[in-house]
Amino acid sequence: MAERAFICGHPIEHSRSPLIHTHWLREFRIDGVYERRDVPPEAFADFVGALADEGYVGGNVTIPHKEHAYSLVQRRDDAAEAIGAVNTLWFDDGVLFGGNTDAYGFAANLDATEPAWTESGTATVLGAGGAARAVVHALLTRGLREIRIVNRTLSRARALADRFPGRTSHHGWEALPELLSDTGLLVNTTSLGMGDPTAAVLDLGPLPKSAIVADIVYVPLQTPLLKEAAQRGLRTVDGLGMLLHQAVPGFERWFGIRPEVTSALRDAVIADLQEKQ
Ligand code: NAP
Repeated sequence: MAERAFICGHPIEHSRSPLIHTHWLREFRIDGVYERRDVPPEAFADFVGALADEGYVGGNVTIPHKEHAYSLVQRRDDAAEAIGAVNTLWFDDGVLFGGNTDAYGFAANLDATEPAWTESGTATVLGAGGAARAVVHALLTRGLREIRIVNRTLSRARALADRFPGRTSHHGWEALPELLSDTGLLVNTTSLGMGDPTAAVLDLGPLPKSAIVADIVYVPLQTPLLKEAAQRGLRTVDGLGMLLHQAVPGFERWFGIRPEVTSALRDAVIADLQEKQ
């Protein structure tokens, strides 16, 4: 019988995860399926409770269920513990595990595109939502010296810095020009400019010429921030790689083979993004 995995969210029709996992299932000729499940918040606990009976080997969890999944699993990996959210579920000896592969995906994408990124020293992170938690965790575990969290709502930036005390600090948007002047790695995790290529962008003038600018938003792929950075001759990293790399550990757990993020996979997802934009 085919192995079954899923992505569960609400809404879920926009998710590219089925495209990614089906690409790998075909590549390795695995008799498996990866299904899209639209589950509203009030039905999520029952959905998770029925996974084993439904024959699932595991799956992904996305908005708005990542924190609820954290509270429902029996065991969690270190990343999920630190981030407070679960995006990957699997069974081990009948026990339901929850992991978080977003931090891994973020770091693996930078490893693949800018291998010296961990020597950036000081990072500035725009945004303090769920994705920013994964990014800050990745930056800390990969040894960045200092992490500044900048957010429109200062209280959320403070809460995120408090969650990871020590090398983090929190700031309002107005502090950016000064913060940028000694930033080695700038990461955007806000939905600012998402789907709106004409949206106003930051003035990246103060950034050192050696800085790397990464955006985790991938619709559009070339965000206004990345365009502005490229025009200034800065190195840029787009958000699609994070999405592709975060899928690797889940696929390996469910189907037993560690897949690779290839240019063929990337091209297939880009074609889909262009078709449905
Ligand atoms: P979230 O929890 O809703 O957080 C959104 C963040 O964006 C908050 O910091 C919010 O600031 C900020 N923001 C929204 N509109 C803004 C505006 N007009 N001006 C300034 N700041 C604004 O969302 P999330 O889950 O962190 O996701 C953020 C983005 O990351 C989404 O676009 C998502 O698609 C992307 N993402 C990508 C990947 C990937 O694999 N590449 C993975 C996860 C997420 P306030 O706190 O002030 O509201």
